[in-house]
Amino acid sequence: MKNVIVVGGGLAGLRTAMALRTQGYQGELTLVGAEHHRPYDRPPLTKAVLAGESDDTTLPADWERLRCGLRLGQRARALRFHDGRPGGVLETTAGPLDFDGLVIATGATPIRLPGDGPQHVVRTLEDARGLRASLRPGARVLIVGAGWIGAEVATAAAEKGCRVTVLEAAATPLATVLGPELGVLTVGWYAEAGVELRLGAEVASVDHGGVTLTDGRSVPADVVVAGVGARPEVDWLAGSGLDVQRGVVVDSALRTTRAEAVAVGDCAAWWSERYGRRLLVEHWETADKAPEAAAAALLGRPAAYDPPLYFWSEQFGRTVQYAGHHSAADQMVFRCAPDSSCWTALWVNGNRLEAVLAVDRPRDLVQGRRLIAESAELDIRLAADPQVPLRDV
Ligand code: FAD
Repeated sequence: MKNVIVVGGGLAGLRTAMALRTQGYQGELTLVGAEHHRPYDRPPLTKAVLAGESDDTTLPADWERLRCGLRLGQRARALRFHDGRPGGVLETTAGPLDFDGLVIATGATPIRLPGDGPQHVVRTLEDARGLRASLRPGARVLIVGAGWIGAEVATAAAEKGCRVTVLEAAATPLATVLGPELGVLTVGWYAEAGVELRLGAEVASVDHGGVTLTDGRSVPADVVVAGVGARPEVDWLAGSGLDVQRGVVVDSALRTTRAEAVAVGDCAAWWSERYGRRLLVEHWETADKAPEAAAAALLGRPAAYDPPLYFWSEQFGRTVQYAGHHSAADQMVFRCAPDSSCWTALWVNGNRLEAVLAVDRPRDLVQGRRLIAESAELDIRLAADPQVPLRDV
């Protein structure tokens, strides 16, 4: 392989470029990125950047040592593979580029709500700066969606003295990711922060001056923020012949259906041997770590990415961390009462730990994550005792 193109200048694209070099790839390397910035970190956008504590989240990289050409502000528009031989042509807004190896790392795009009124989303640095400028004391800020992003934006807006309302269509925050049983435990966090949370409120459209709900009522607002999820940025792959469903379909080593192309990060739906199913997640850690396996696979070496999942969020002054993957059938065990300031929920299947959610209990998270990775057996009675370190149960 002599000419690799990385499409997408986010965390996953940068990490794959780095991994290719550390794994000995010596050929040409080019990164094509639609944004004008060098790869930067997104988690701080809804945290330090909105809070006004940071304005630059550029990821550290020694571009000279990396010997990676940067084509910033250029967007991939289409992909064609050669017939009967490896490689192909990437059509970009700046013209065609030949490749014999390809990394697809185009991330995800936030979903916007219907309606012609102004709405903010937070995916890019510009999005975060634009929203930050609107978060003035007293402004009526309406956030649609009480998911991870919605809760983080609500935190920042409340801290800035805005009058914040969060509308959530489900019966609890985080219902789809954590389940209603746990989601309900976060309801009080909104009230504590002075944020009005309206559950079961579904937005039909964003208008000028607020939103209209599906029941016909309107809710006035000066600023509307959509935090209703993101979809993988894969439309440009139409007609490429790759298997693209919700994301780019890849195996447990991030290989697409073409041996010379891998996909990684938020745009990739990879096969997890651990969970026996295809996973498509928007987790920083996956974009950071899966590139090692993607680079190895591209270089034709044995590779697999299959750790327990991990993500975190910072909301209403709390650090919330989750590791593993649970199902509704798992038994839930609490360490500390969930109405205390910090607590941990464990999901257990038989005597095996499947997942852990820690609220301001980082040690539980670290130890629980290790138990999950090792498929260790635990004593549930001991695990429920917050005084006993999880590693000893
Ligand atoms: P991205 O970071 O989206 O990068 C993809 C890049 O590809 C973008 O720069 C995009 O412009 C570019 N691109 C797209 N299409 C094209 C094209 N056709 N041609 C060229 N370039 C293209 N995760 C956590 O675990 N914890 C958190 O607290 C957390 N907070 C978050 C807060 C925010 C506001 C956001 C948006 C995400 C957060 N995440 C968090 C998720 C995490 O940041 C993502 O999982 C991670 O950034 C994914 O990296 P990526 O490289 O796959 O995609």
